[in-house]
Amino acid sequence: MCFLFISNPIIILFLSYHSCASARRLAQLLPYNINAKISLYEIGRGPGGRASTRKTRDLPHIYINHGAPYADIRTTQGKSIINNLGSNCILQYKGIIGTLDSTSGTFSKDTKEDKVDYITGAYNKMSNIASSLLTQDIDSSIIDTKYKTMIRGLSYTVTADSDTKVWQLKDKANEVIDTADWLIVAGSGIAHPRWTAAFGGEPPLIAAEVESPDTKLRQALDAIGKQEVSPRMAVFFVCSGDDARKWRSLDFDVANINNEDSILSKIIIQDDTTDSGDDWCSVVLHSTEAFATENSSVYGRTSSAARVGGATDESLEDDLIDRMLTALKEIPGLPTPNVKTLSYGPLLHRWGNAFPKGLVLSHELGFVPSSCVTFCGDYVSSPEMARLGSLESALLSGTHAGEQVAKYILDDIK
Ligand SMILES: Cc1cc2nc3c(=O)[nH]c(=O)nc-3n(C[C@H](O)[C@H](O)[C@H](O)COP(=O)(O)OP(=O)(O)OC[C@H]3O[C@@H](n4cnc5c(N)ncnc54)[C@H](O)[C@@H]3O)c2cc1C
Repeated sequence: MCFLFISNPIIILFLSYHSCASARRLAQLLPYNINAKISLYEIGRGPGGRASTRKTRDLPHIYINHGAPYADIRTTQGKSIINNLGSNCILQYKGIIGTLDSTSGTFSKDTKEDKVDYITGAYNKMSNIASSLLTQDIDSSIIDTKYKTMIRGLSYTVTADSDTKVWQLKDKANEVIDTADWLIVAGSGIAHPRWTAAFGGEPPLIAAEVESPDTKLRQALDAIGKQEVSPRMAVFFVCSGDDARKWRSLDFDVANINNEDSILSKIIIQDDTTDSGDDWCSVVLHSTEAFATENSSVYGRTSSAARVGGATDESLEDDLIDRMLTALKEIPGLPTPNVKTLSYGPLLHRWGNAFPKGLVLSHELGFVPSSCVTFCGDYVSSPEMARLGSLESALLSGTHAGEQVAKYILDDIK
């Protein structure tokens, strides 16, 4: 999510990740004399959201792309944004992708589509795509990132210091931690009824609209409320030495599982040359939607939703890890992970909204200047349509949101 404030000096305040694309576009379009300031708030420890990269201080050489393993970029504008970042920031994804029959263990390789760019970030870390958006060839001094901070409440109100309404961002104790002229919402969580099941209470943006009614914002919130989500569980671990070499010798890097009865939907293997002096690889298992839906109370004790937001049910976690590893062991021809010799993990992470489902939020409804709110993310359309639920759709709608807000601010100043 993002928030943007315009006051004196102008502060532009964002929350979250592919708001990185919005922040980048605003930094490109707003003249320096406006004195704009852009802040991104993020629950997680770093950028990237569902296309982020897990790291651990104990093993600094390892990284795990536990959400999106790569991005497929199909539109002209998507390719232009990516090309703009340059080959130091964006790498071609070279992994072998295909389908694995979990009953026979037979793998068939997909042919990568010619006109599609399959990409990852520098050093094969997906989160580096987001970092590059915030730094590469822009004046990044106006962008401030605030990690490990969850926005728990919002108000759109006149304050003692302002003549017009501003957005107040609040923490768990309902204390105001920041104010902003504009709110750019990346990620539908604060605007969607599913917030209540995970964190309790009214979703913050819905509560803010009740307090400060706005017909267009209400229409946008109603449309978002009708969108469904498709969750996934991820279980991941790292192994080294002979164990890693066994995984790395397989025919694939990303295998989609085609068995309807399986609780696994995808297996991802990532390896790299390392400074550690030994071979290593990470293995990420994605569950099916059905398995994640059945176990909706478990978030993973190391996830930001659990650590910062307090959402999890730890009692079931080890059981779910066990069930996903057992499903892996049942696939013929794959190495059998020995949890006692793993370098890291196995850990579980719930992607409560891995992919949005249903009708995309139109970009007309996504821009609400009457309340200084704009929505961006993979659930919002943009003029050049990308696939709902893809990193590319988040990039395009984020860029579009940045353009709309910049235009509005500049027109207002004229
Ligand atoms: C398992 C999985 C596999 C995927 N595979 C692919 C793929 O192969 N190709 C592809 O293109 N896409 C894939 N995706 C989808 C892709 O990752 C997303 O479409 C994209 O990352 C969406 O970006 P976003 O900015 O819209 O949202 P997000 O990445 O979800 O960003 C929203 C951010 O807001 C933060 N946030 C939310 N609420 C708050 C709050 N109250 N306070 C502070 N911060 C908050 C969240 O922590 C999050 O970081 C996959 C996703 C998953 C989960």
